[in-house]
Amino acid sequence: MDRVCAAAVCTVFSVAYSGYFFTQLARHIARAWRESAPWSPKPSTQPPVAACAQEEEAKGEQDAHQAATAATAGPEHAASSSSASLVPPAPAAAAGSEEASSGQAGSSSTSSSCTWSTSSSSGSTEHLPERTEDEWLAMLRMLVSQGDAEAKYTDLESIGKGGFGTVCTAVETATGEEVAIKKISLLQESSKELCVKEIQVMRDHKNSNVVNYIDSFLVHEELWLVMEYMDGGSLYDVIRETRMAEGEIAVVSRECLQGLDFLHSNNVIHRDVKSHNILLSLDGSVKLADFGLAAQLTAEQSKRRSAVGTTYWMAPEIFTRKPYGPKVDIWSFGIVGMEMVEGAPPYLMRSSRTHPFVTSAQPTSSLTPLLMAVQQFMADSRF
Ligand code: ATP
Repeated sequence: MDRVCAAAVCTVFSVAYSGYFFTQLARHIARAWRESAPWSPKPSTQPPVAACAQEEEAKGEQDAHQAATAATAGPEHAASSSSASLVPPAPAAAAGSEEASSGQAGSSSTSSSCTWSTSSSSGSTEHLPERTEDEWLAMLRMLVSQGDAEAKYTDLESIGKGGFGTVCTAVETATGEEVAIKKISLLQESSKELCVKEIQVMRDHKNSNVVNYIDSFLVHEELWLVMEYMDGGSLYDVIRETRMAEGEIAVVSRECLQGLDFLHSNNVIHRDVKSHNILLSLDGSVKLADFGLAAQLTAEQSKRRSAVGTTYWMAPEIFTRKPYGPKVDIWSFGIVGMEMVEGAPPYLMRSSRTHPFVTSAQPTSSLTPLLMAVQQFMADSRF
């Protein structure tokens, strides 16, 4: 049954990706859903000022040939440090800053995945002015609310940890409402840019399949991003703990595709779709979360080409540094489909098995006689 299911997902996924089938399906479902659910929030029509100004991005398909063709790190270089951790997390770097790391592969290790970004080193005139850390901080100051968040929210309890900080539950003192607060340290390089992007995308794109932004504050050296609390945990937790039935996979797929359809209709690419970033509520809601890597497309910049995302879920065109658009989220969602069916993304276990030839290796000390013999031979041949 699982094999049939996996084969079905693979088949649908490949067809879907090449023909953008999933998006059409999502559009269709979303339209029907919107029509039948007049209470659903109206998508914001105001485009957010996404923090993408520094990105070295393609301005259109015609720029494809200018993109650097060097392939970046493959899936085997990724780390998934979940409970099924295989590879130690790489040093934290600029997950949200594809520009700051110009020409360098960076990686942001998290408790659950390896998210990374790189920037092409082609040095073309497409470079937009880079923002300094101070400028990102100034933007952040303009976005956040004033006030004493430590008084506004009480009973903080940590529920999770990501690459840039921790997530807590808290109670809003005035209303008694339970919320989630993502505390992001601003001392980490590029965290300010990531915070700006995350706030802008969440604030400007409210939808019933997107985790709801409530407020944000600067507290000492941290950003406190206040959002709705999703009491069902992440899809990753569900996949890790249980096997999902086909009907459950279908409903999660439908809800995620509605969320993606909404984002794509507003020219936003999520760029980090994976089970860790899909949150659930006990009432059955399914929502997309974690928008620190999201990108806003515009008429002038209809494609991106920065290598951003989490390796196992990344679309091929990102690895091969080709200009890409919203389809990359559909690829990543296809991987989520495979996670739901098989329990893990493809190739996750690859790095833990090596070829029998390599695993049959002798201890390194076995090289000593060989090296001594070589040295003796070289010494003898000098005379
Ligand atoms: P990264 O952001 O580095 O890719 P991540 O997605 O695991 O990693 P966070 O977004 O910081 O990190 O989330 C950390 C944990 O908190 C995750 O396990 C996630 O399930 C949980 N979490 C995040 N937001 C919420 C929320 N609104 N409600 C409930 N749990 C949440």
